[in-house]
Amino acid sequence: PLSLPQFLLSHSASSSSSKPAFIDAETGVALTFANLRALTAAAARALAVLGVRRGDVVLHVSPNSLHFPALVLAVMSLGAVFSTANFLQTRSEIQSQVQDSGPVLILTTADLAPKLDGLIPRPPTLIDQFLASLSIDRNAPVEFPGVGPADPAALMYSSGTTGKSKGVVSSHGNLVAMASVLRHVWGRREEVYACVVPLSHMFGFSVFVCGAVAAGATVVVLRRYALDELLMAVEEHRVTLLPAVPPMVVQLARSGGVARANYDLRSLREVISSGAPLGRDNMERFADAYPGITLSQCYGLTETSGPVTVCHGLKGRFQISIGRLIPTVEAKIVHVRTGKALPPNEHGELCLRGPPVMQGYLKNQEATSLAIDEEGWLRTGDLCYIDTQGHVYVVDRIKELIKYKAYQVAPAELEEVLSTHPEILDVAVTPYPDEEAGEIPMACVVRKAGSKIREEDIISFMEKKVAPYKKIRKVLFVEIIPRSPSGKILRRHLKATVMQHRKLGISAR
Ligand code: ATP
Repeated sequence: PLSLPQFLLSHSASSSSSKPAFIDAETGVALTFANLRALTAAAARALAVLGVRRGDVVLHVSPNSLHFPALVLAVMSLGAVFSTANFLQTRSEIQSQVQDSGPVLILTTADLAPKLDGLIPRPPTLIDQFLASLSIDRNAPVEFPGVGPADPAALMYSSGTTGKSKGVVSSHGNLVAMASVLRHVWGRREEVYACVVPLSHMFGFSVFVCGAVAAGATVVVLRRYALDELLMAVEEHRVTLLPAVPPMVVQLARSGGVARANYDLRSLREVISSGAPLGRDNMERFADAYPGITLSQCYGLTETSGPVTVCHGLKGRFQISIGRLIPTVEAKIVHVRTGKALPPNEHGELCLRGPPVMQGYLKNQEATSLAIDEEGWLRTGDLCYIDTQGHVYVVDRIKELIKYKAYQVAPAELEEVLSTHPEILDVAVTPYPDEEAGEIPMACVVRKAGSKIREEDIISFMEKKVAPYKKIRKVLFVEIIPRSPSGKILRRHLKATVMQHRKLGISAR
């Protein structure tokens, strides 16, 4: 039985220690596996001097950086819990997370420190200063004071797409389970990953900190996402694998010709999309733009400590499935209301069970028991089906379904059809209150520049493409669709905009 740092450092130590584990894309500075180990040991000693003890929460708020994995492993090796917040969040958003989790220490950068000052009694600890103060002894061992698989290791917050974000507690056992699987899924020592998705979110955390380190692969870290910088990093470092979120895949697809003309992307074998639905249209566009690159997908929740299904794509082709289950994880599809297990191909809620499933929500037994039943099945809240071959497909999130009369309409399905319209730049479908039907599907549409498309054009376009009960019955033209960094439509914000229009009596028509 191992803790995550023990598992990772013993694995990576057995791979050649002079190999770069992490490279800063901007400066070219590399951290070898030997450096990672020594840095972890030194940072753990320094954190202990700062008073971090077993069970304490340490909050990390920073853009992606080369040192992130060492800080994670240092905190965890003390038996403390590593928590993250997206650095783009506002002070009050981070404050509510701080009130929930009560960190003893906040690790951050000099420019973010003023935003975080005063949230806890101790002033923010500046990462650069902290690192500069370490006395690194290459031969000092990392100590693991009796930390085991059942101990809490990470406290990540879900994206808050459907409501307030929840603190998800993952144990060392959960993360070791994830690392052991991901090591085989994409992990070959020769791989060079580009890390451009946030390490503060479970997707990035699991793929890079757990999977890539366990495999002994190299990760090129980008501080922020900018297409040119990403393509330059791919060329310069001969990147082979790019885990991404849908907005990045869409941008890559749109700029395929230019990207291929200006950069040497021949090393890039696979792009992996996760975090939100990508949509058939975007997959098709990507496959056309990059015939030599495989487009894969994976699916997971913060609650599953990382990806639990993986779909390895085929060159120049795409598959709409989110893939098959990773080893050790079981799935079933149940009826949304009765909870009865359903046969293949029937739509219902996806439930998952297995070693990577979280311990529970922080200080929220009620939400935990609603999410995980006595047999250990986690309700994902996603409407899915599984075909006879074991391929899983996401239809939509259950909470997002529009209740039109006795029917349930999936916004994601309508969004996909709408996005094929040549004059629509972006679109989101949301419920609109209706006396007779309860709710009707309404499309919030961003028109392409110069487009004069009207509400009735959109309604009749959809009439020809979907069943009558799924028809779009109202259209609101908007400037922008609110989205999270991973490309998820922020339904709460959208509903608020729609309600605002309703209150003001602005006709959608
Ligand atoms: P909250 O629970 O606070 O509303 P969230 O569920 O969006 O936030 P995450 O844990 O970041 O927080 O996201 C998990 C969800 O992301 C899944 O339940 C699923 O709806 C969606 N998702 C993840 N990967 C994919 C994918 N490949 N295709 C479609 N949807 C995906």
